Amino acid sequence: MESPVCNIPNIKKPPDYKLAGKHSTDHQTIIDVNGVMVGGEELIVMAGPCAVENKEQLLATAKLVGKYGAKILRGGAFKPRSSPYRFQGLEEDGLELLQLARLETGLPIVTEVMDTRHVELVGEYADILQVGSRNMANFPLLKEVGLSKKPIFLKRGMNATIEEFLMAAEYILSQGNERVILCERGIRTFETAYRNTLDLNAIPMLKSLTHLPVIVDPSHGTGHRWMVGPMAKAAIAAGADGLQMEVHYKPEVALCDGEQSLYPEDFKRLMEELKVLAAAVGRKIRSRVKALKL
Ligand code: PEP
Ligand code: MN
Repeated sequence: MESPVCNIPNIKKPPDYKLAGKHSTDHQTIIDVNGVMVGGEELIVMAGPCAVENKEQLLATAKLVGKYGAKILRGGAFKPRSSPYRFQGLEEDGLELLQLARLETGLPIVTEVMDTRHVELVGEYADILQVGSRNMANFPLLKEVGLSKKPIFLKRGMNATIEEFLMAAEYILSQGNERVILCERGIRTFETAYRNTLDLNAIPMLKSLTHLPVIVDPSHGTGHRWMVGPMAKAAIAAGADGLQMEVHYKPEVALCDGEQSLYPEDFKRLMEELKVLAAAVGRKIRSRVKALKL
């Protein structure tokens, strides 16, 4: 018989994100990505080009971001593009290049998977599977990556509420994959001066609702190179566990998102500034690991 309490109007039901919610555990989840701890005291920076374009571009960029303190290399091999006529990514050749970059730098790789049919393939190369903003509510894909043994980097849908975002994480967790990293990457608002409105409110809100690590992407969150640094700093000040940023060795010739990609020198300077800020909020950014071959 149903409890009479449930029939009383205005009684708030407990949230449906049973596994993602803070109420399910008393610990903060720390995800071990080949020895890189995401969600711990150290702030983790993931950096690299929007898309893998060729060997020279990827290796040159990877070596520089690693040298300047990135702990994880990003780069898309399967690219979700608004236009079917634009560069769609190198696909499996891009995954091969990412593997080469990992060998050359020692940096773990995060790369996007867009299709349930590619989860196994991308999982053979990637250390973290990224589910992009456009696929946050692709439930078959969420279920499929939930069966994968790899950590999942789940980006907030550009029109998703916090609750919808946590429910997307719940889809993955409920399949048995406990290693989900959340990423705030900006939402669509009426404002057109920037590509998206980076929702800084999401950081303290997510930190209060979930035990999962929260990473912020100020590149897609702003769309402008010159805005990336200020918003990266704001994200750290607001309590993010790290950042994902686009960096390109020659942004002016990038095939994708060059206007929001940092020059390696910008990235270097920003990392120095972030170290100071991290200390002020009781976190750390460690310099590059000596073992890395850079
Ligand atoms: C990306 O990180 O390459 C990307 C496409 O981002 P988003 O899914 O947030 O648009
Ligand atoms: Mn991009």
